[in-house]
Amino acid sequence: MPRIRVLPDLLVNKIAAGEVIERPASVVKELVENSIDAGARAIEIAVEQGGQKLIRVTDDGGGMDAEDLALSVRPHATSKIAREEDLFAIRTMGFRGEALASIGAVSQLRVVSRRPGCDEAWQVAVCGDHTEPVAAASAPPGTTVEVRELFFNVPARRKFLRTPQTELGHITEQLARIALVHHGVQFRLIHNGREVHFLRPAAGMLPRIRDFFGPELADGLMALARDERGLSITGYAGAPAQSRSAPKWQYFFLNGRFIRDRFIAHAVREAYRGLIEPSRHPVVFLALEIDPACVDVNVHPTKSEVRWRDSNLLYSQILSVLRDRFLNSDLTPDLAPRHDLQPALGEDTPATADGPAQDAADEARRQRIRESIADFFKRTPPSYGPGAAVPGPGAGLPGAARSWTPHHSGPALPAMPRLEPWNPPEDANAGDSAPRRLWPSPTEAAPPSGPPPQAIQVHRTYLVAESPEGLMIIDQHALHERILYEQLSAELARGPLESQRLLLPETLQVPADQVAVIEQYADTLRRLGVELSAYGPGAVAVHAVPSLLRPERSLEFVRDLLDRLAHRAAPASTELLADELLSMMACKAAVKAGDPLTPQEIGALLARRGDVERASNCPHGRPTSLRLSLRDLEKQFKRS
Ligand code: ADP
Ligand code: MG
Repeated sequence: MPRIRVLPDLLVNKIAAGEVIERPASVVKELVENSIDAGARAIEIAVEQGGQKLIRVTDDGGGMDAEDLALSVRPHATSKIAREEDLFAIRTMGFRGEALASIGAVSQLRVVSRRPGCDEAWQVAVCGDHTEPVAAASAPPGTTVEVRELFFNVPARRKFLRTPQTELGHITEQLARIALVHHGVQFRLIHNGREVHFLRPAAGMLPRIRDFFGPELADGLMALARDERGLSITGYAGAPAQSRSAPKWQYFFLNGRFIRDRFIAHAVREAYRGLIEPSRHPVVFLALEIDPACVDVNVHPTKSEVRWRDSNLLYSQILSVLRDRFLNSDLTPDLAPRHDLQPALGEDTPATADGPAQDAADEARRQRIRESIADFFKRTPPSYGPGAAVPGPGAGLPGAARSWTPHHSGPALPAMPRLEPWNPPEDANAGDSAPRRLWPSPTEAAPPSGPPPQAIQVHRTYLVAESPEGLMIIDQHALHERILYEQLSAELARGPLESQRLLLPETLQVPADQVAVIEQYADTLRRLGVELSAYGPGAVAVHAVPSLLRPERSLEFVRDLLDRLAHRAAPASTELLADELLSMMACKAAVKAGDPLTPQEIGALLARRGDVERASNCPHGRPTSLRLSLRDLEKQFKRS
């Protein structure tokens, strides 16, 4: 082995630069953070050729005198901390004293600064390992840092730089990560002499979200605020319908700094569970404020990760601020035609897989639904499905007495898959003429009396109902599934689900590896009301199944259940697992698309719609209903 030696300063600085200065955007981040630490109210960033040729950041902050200026470009020189204890009281963006030294090691750096109230300005220049002495200069109060020919002496890094447009995209992203939370500061970004962003000071984050992501995204957001147990949370959350195919639209800030954090990400995911499909990602902007003593920010060179003293507090507060907001919000997506669709991001931000394409797909889907409704009304003179009453003359007028209960028995209904309780004693004699039960549990209350909601079933799949604001189109399966899911969750919270013993056990042929699952998940299975035993190497005997399910569907459910359990990637918490299986069960038990419904059943479904939490989304995250407001109808019919 060669002898040990102490590395020369330039090499040390280059190594340090390797950690924090990855590309032009990293320089922009460090310089803008310095300006904010210096108390700047206005910051201008001018870049040329994606920042490779020039990055110049000018601020109106506190500046530096000649002595500080000389120190500022030296490694490990900072005005922000002095003692070890200070590491746990950091309120500034920087503290490592490395950025200017690192940048100077890999570019031609010039810093010009003047303290407000001082007459003279000073400058210092660094190029590689050569530092010029501080000299008098002329400049307005504040600081300008100029970085030219980035990576001129690090060809390996230069090779990795992308096109100026892509690098500019990264710079815009870094700017967003600072400007979203430092919304009181004015920013201007100029590329090759052209203004790309001008952000005037704002009172909150929302105008900045609009600046970066467009009004389409910003205007659909719900405001969040909570300040409890030493943790303040403010921000915005997107409705489930605004979810995206990538997590890019999630911005988390801690004490003014953008961070990535798995606890926060997990809490957000958990809050939206059941509201969006598992493959989608919610749009969320969260700004957290906490006593700096409660976090360690010194765990990552770019300070983008932190270590929490109490991650449970964080998790539970984020979960509840979001959940509370959802409970107080109507999450039903609008069917309204949108004329203001615009790409979520400008051309200057990094390309993403989502955004405009997704919006177009959503719009196409809305359009299809609109057309099929229009088509339905065109083709079908108001006939209201088998067995339903024909509304009287006053029907459809506000306040008119009307009823959906058949006055006469309609045509005989085709035999339909029905969700009757499986052989419950009190229903044993129920004949075909008895009102069919949509609600499986015998203890369940009957559909409430009172004026039944106005709804018709279309294509045996959707319910079209009048609402105070206009009309709703409801997916019968999705809504029923959501109702059953909520009901099952509530039952499960009280104890194991009601279970039905089979007189003779049924055997199911299953792959050999699934037999082991019975042991492994015995407890979860028992809670769900499922009782199984091994029956040879490739079969299980089914002794009991949840009462909710009809016999054929219950065996299907057990089969799916074993499949799901055998193919789980990681053992989830029992709660998560039970929840996942409940969703499956609710899906199996719910009426399907294509099942005709009686007016009573429709009434019962709609009556329960209001009761269930988050009724606007099924457990798989698909919406259960869409709405068309009177205002939009009037627009479409050119009445306004
Ligand atoms: P850090 O920000 O971690 O302290 P830097 O290398 O980024 O380290 O900056 C070194 C020092 O230079 C800072 O501590 C600060 O005192 C000073 N400085 C840098 N940029 C500015 C600026 N724009 N305005 C005033 N002072 C600055
Ligand atoms: Mg700094």
